[in-house]
Amino acid sequence: MNGNDSQLESCRARMNDAQRDIDNAKRELDRLQSSIDALDSSINSCNYRIDDLKRSVDNEYEAVRICKAARDRYNADSHRYRAQDFQNAKEREISIRRGYIDQKRSIINDKKRVLDTLKQASARKKQASEEFHSRLDTLKAENARRKADYREKPCKGCGKTIRYNVNWSHIPNYCQECKEKFRRH
Ligand SMILES: [Zn+2]
Repeated sequence: MNGNDSQLESCRARMNDAQRDIDNAKRELDRLQSSIDALDSSINSCNYRIDDLKRSVDNEYEAVRICKAARDRYNADSHRYRAQDFQNAKEREISIRRGYIDQKRSIINDKKRVLDTLKQASARKKQASEEFHSRLDTLKAENARRKADYREKPCKGCGKTIRYNVNWSHIPNYCQECKEKFRRH
């Protein structure tokens, strides 16, 4: 079989190109996924702190109510201030979380883009691979056809096997050695 068929080589090059793009896209997806995982973990920590601060705010306002009922204006005020502090801390935490969520959204868009690239590269690889195998089948068939055109028969002089192609205009009856011998006599 011909190892240097240009059509086969071009298919192989396209398969390799596509494979390189697939490998790059997969590496990029891994990288993006670990960023998403890290952001998810940061968002979860924010959620935990926000819930905690909400509870603190509620507790302080509950204390304000109790102090008011006891006509303890001084402690009621100090609980109100602390409630406000917790409320501010909660707002800050919510704003930090919004930042993480925006980053995550942008990375998810990047991920979609890379997934598209991966899909296209996979399609190119499949196409090139199909063409490669179709060309290979054609070459195999040609090769088999060429082989089928060869026959063997015994030399009329010495009986040694002569291999010949049915398409030759002259099919020899004698082997090379016998022909040499005749020429010398
Ligand atoms: Zn012979």
